[in-house]
Amino acid sequence: MLFDFDNSYARLPARFYARLDPTAVARPSLIRLNRDLATELGIDPQALDTATAAALAAGNLVPPGAEPIALAYAGHQFGHFVPQLGDGRAILLGEVVDRAGRRRDIQLKGSGRTPFSRRGDGRAALGPVLREYVVSEAMHALGIPTTRALAAATTGEPVYREDVLPGAVLTRVAASHVRVGTFQYFAARDDQDAIARLVDHVIARHDPAAAQAERPALTLLAGVAERQAQLVARWMQVGFIHGVMNTDNMTISGETIDFGPCAFMDTYDPKTVFSAIDDFGRYAYANQPGIAQWNLARLAEALLARIDPEPQRAIDLATDVVVGFRSRYEAHWLDGMRRKLGLFHAEDDDRQLAEGFLDALHAGGADFTLAFRRLGEAARGAAHESALRAMFTRPGAYESWATAWRARLAREPRSPDERAAAMNGVNPLVIPRNHRVEQAIAAAVTQADFGPFERLLQAVERPFDERPADDVDARPPAPEERVCRTFCGT
Ligand code: AMP
Ligand code: MG
Repeated sequence: MLFDFDNSYARLPARFYARLDPTAVARPSLIRLNRDLATELGIDPQALDTATAAALAAGNLVPPGAEPIALAYAGHQFGHFVPQLGDGRAILLGEVVDRAGRRRDIQLKGSGRTPFSRRGDGRAALGPVLREYVVSEAMHALGIPTTRALAAATTGEPVYREDVLPGAVLTRVAASHVRVGTFQYFAARDDQDAIARLVDHVIARHDPAAAQAERPALTLLAGVAERQAQLVARWMQVGFIHGVMNTDNMTISGETIDFGPCAFMDTYDPKTVFSAIDDFGRYAYANQPGIAQWNLARLAEALLARIDPEPQRAIDLATDVVVGFRSRYEAHWLDGMRRKLGLFHAEDDDRQLAEGFLDALHAGGADFTLAFRRLGEAARGAAHESALRAMFTRPGAYESWATAWRARLAREPRSPDERAAAMNGVNPLVIPRNHRVEQAIAAAVTQADFGPFERLLQAVERPFDERPADDVDARPPAPEERVCRTFCGT
C-alpha cells in the first residue's frame, strides 16, 4: 500500500464534488519527487521506482485507496461573483494522516478535464507547475503556512496557450482544499444543509475546539480570521505578492494556495503588482490585508444562517469578527516587524519606527529583502552599516531613521551577536526572485534543462543561510534582468 488513504471529503454528500479519474497522458516523465515530504506522508521514496513515481505523478496510475474527486466551489474573481468554478484542472486523490498525525490532501493539478472545466483544457503548462513547485517550497522553508509540492511530472503532451508549451502535472499537498468559495458555492444555492455539513467538516479538520463553542460557525469564522491575519502579515514581511486573492484562492486552513501570477518584490514599493491580468492593481502588495478582510466578509455572509437564526443578530456577531480582522492583522504585522528590526520587547512607538524604515526603503529605492538582511549586519554597530547605507539612493533618509533605531536598540541591550543572529533567523537572504524563477522556467521549457530549477530549489530551501555578497540567488536583479510581469498560464 502506497498511501494509507482516509477520504473524509469523499464521504460528504455527492453534490460536493464530481467523481472521476485523472485523464492518462502520453509519456509521463518525473521531474522531481519531494523525498522529505514523501517520507512525512508515510511513503518510502526508496521503494518507489521512477516509472511508477512518474505514472503516479502524471495521473496515469491511481494509487489503491484513492477516491478521485473534483471539488465544487464558487468564488469572487476580481470582485465579481461566479457561482460555479470548481476544480477544472485538479483532482483530489484523497487524504492521508501523516506521521505527525495531520490530515493532508493529495491533489493532482493539471490532470485533465472535469465537469468544472468550462472552456479550459484541464491541463497545466510546465512553467506554472515549476513556479508553484519552487515558490510553495520556498514559502515552507520561510516558515509560512502553505500548500506543498510532492512531485512534478511532464506529460509528453503539448498544451496550447498563446504558445504551444510542454504539459505538466503537479502533485499538491494541502491541509485541505476548502476555500471561502466552497462556502459561497452552497450559499449561492441557499443549500443550508450543505453549509452545515461543511462547517462540521472544516471544524473537525481545522478548528476542533470550535465544536464545543456556543456558536461553532462564529468560532470557525474567528479561526479563519486569525489564520488569515497571521498569514497575510507573514506575506507582507517577506514581500510576497499573491496576485490573485480571489475568494476561491483563500483557504479555510490558513495556508497559502494557488501560486499563479505570484512573485516576490525586489525594490520596495507598496504599489507593486506583477500579475499581467491585474489591470487596476486590486491585488497590489499594500492591498493584501484589505482584500483578505473583504474575502472574510464574503465568508461571513455565507455563514450567517449558521451563526444565529435571528438575521440581525447574526450580522452583528459576524461583523465584529470581520471588523476585528484589522487589529488582529496589525498586531501580527507589528510583532513580526519588531523581530525584523531586531527588537525583543514592545514599545509604543515601534509601529512608527517600522514604518519609518519602509518609508526610507521606498524613498531610497532599496531592495526589500536585502535591506532587512543587511540591517542585521548594521545591528552589530555603526561600523557595519556601509553595505546597507549604500543601498539607498538617498542615504540621508536612512541615516536619520538609523539614529532613532540605534537609540531604540540601546534601550534593550543585547550582545551584537545575539541580535544579529535573531535578525538573520527572520530576515531571509534568499527568496525565489522573479527573474530567477523565470530563468529556471525558460531553461526547462525551451531546452528541457531542469538544472537551473534544481539549483534554485536548493537555494530557496535554505533561505536564512549565509552566502557570499555576490551570490546569484541572493542578489537583486540587475536592471536588465528585472521581470515585472507574471502570467497565470491557465
Ligand atoms: P485559478 O485562476 O487557477 O485559481 O483558477 C480559476 C478557475 O479556473 C478554477 O475553477 C480552475 O479550475 C479553472 N481553470 C483554470 N485553468 C484551467 C484549465 N486549464 N482548464 C480548466 N479549468 C481551469
Ligand atoms: Mg484557484
